[in-house]
Amino acid sequence: MNNKKALITGISGQETSDSWLKLVNKGYEVHGVIRRNSQMSKGTVELLPEQYRDKITIHFGDVTDAPFIEETVKKIAPDELYHLAAQSFVGYSFKNPSATYDVNIGGTLNVANAVKDHSPNTKLYFAATSELYGQPETTPQNEDTVFRPRSPYAISKLAGYWTVKVYRESYKLFMCNGILFNHESEVRGPEFVTRKIAMKVAAMAKGDDTPLVVGNLDARKDWGYAEDYVYGMWLMLQQKEASDYVLSTGEMHTVRDFINEAFESINKKIDWKGKALNETGIDKENNRIVVKVSPEFYRPLESDNYMGDYSKAKRILGWKPKVLFKDLVKKMVMSDLNTEKF
Ligand code: NAP
Repeated sequence: MNNKKALITGISGQETSDSWLKLVNKGYEVHGVIRRNSQMSKGTVELLPEQYRDKITIHFGDVTDAPFIEETVKKIAPDELYHLAAQSFVGYSFKNPSATYDVNIGGTLNVANAVKDHSPNTKLYFAATSELYGQPETTPQNEDTVFRPRSPYAISKLAGYWTVKVYRESYKLFMCNGILFNHESEVRGPEFVTRKIAMKVAAMAKGDDTPLVVGNLDARKDWGYAEDYVYGMWLMLQQKEASDYVLSTGEMHTVRDFINEAFESINKKIDWKGKALNETGIDKENNRIVVKVSPEFYRPLESDNYMGDYSKAKRILGWKPKVLFKDLVKKMVMSDLNTEKF
């Protein structure tokens, strides 16, 4: 045991998976906040091997509930707090900005206040995002690139980002913003385009003959692997001084590239015909349409052209991504191919 305690909000999301096992293995006492549901399901925590799952203490509650967060932080007095809980789906944030603000702004304020008032020695990590940049005019983006959010999600995360910065400077607290570019995994939520592609391509390999339907094929993102990014979060909290860091791969790919690579991993090649909403992806082998575009999956305001410059993280934390685009896509498709659900 290293006698350290870590508290993770949002532990039931995609970033838990195997990543937090590493903390358990480092001897941390790990606590997680999960909001209660009728099945008392623990989300992705249930996917962990039993010997690890049993070592994580779950506190059922909501980050929007200030007294609950206050009580939990006070009771545990964690050495490290990873605040990941959020309404994290950009598309949904346009449909329900109010709920997005409640969780992402209100929840973050509750966590920051609880640390300030009841556990000022806790080191806090806040999950900021490349979505803060909106539609960036300069490439690549780093910690000094201007933020111009273009969705309720990004606005809510910008409020969290500034809360962390202002609390750090005003109250001399150890609080870090991780400006993380997209990161994916085998347990990414199924509504996110990467997982949607992986699941559908795996289903097609098993005989599904209905096409994949997506939004903007030209959206350009910097996609990395969640486990690498969780390691980066941990490194941020091991430093002597708190700061803000970009974590990214430094590569930019389109959604179309992701689809090509996903089909490549089941040995299929795609021909692209048409433009914009009329573009289709055709399986070269049998001339069948396997990809279609629908306006339903476009955002009201696109935010893309993301490519992160992680040189500060490399220089100070010694961090760099291990899994890059091709391997990431392959990992996701292979994982869905090996599940029994199709
Ligand atoms: P995720 O899979 O959507 O996980 C979010 C977690 O937050 C879920 O466990 C969710 O629980 C929980 N949550 C939501 N509202 C809550 C509430 N009111 N009280 C308590 N828990 C609540 O997201 P992720 O991909 O793991 O990302 C983790 C964090 O990093 C998020 O803050 C996200 O915005 C941020 N981020 C992600 C990326 C990325 O590409 N993945 C990039 C930059 C930043 P339920 O299952 O109950 O909804």
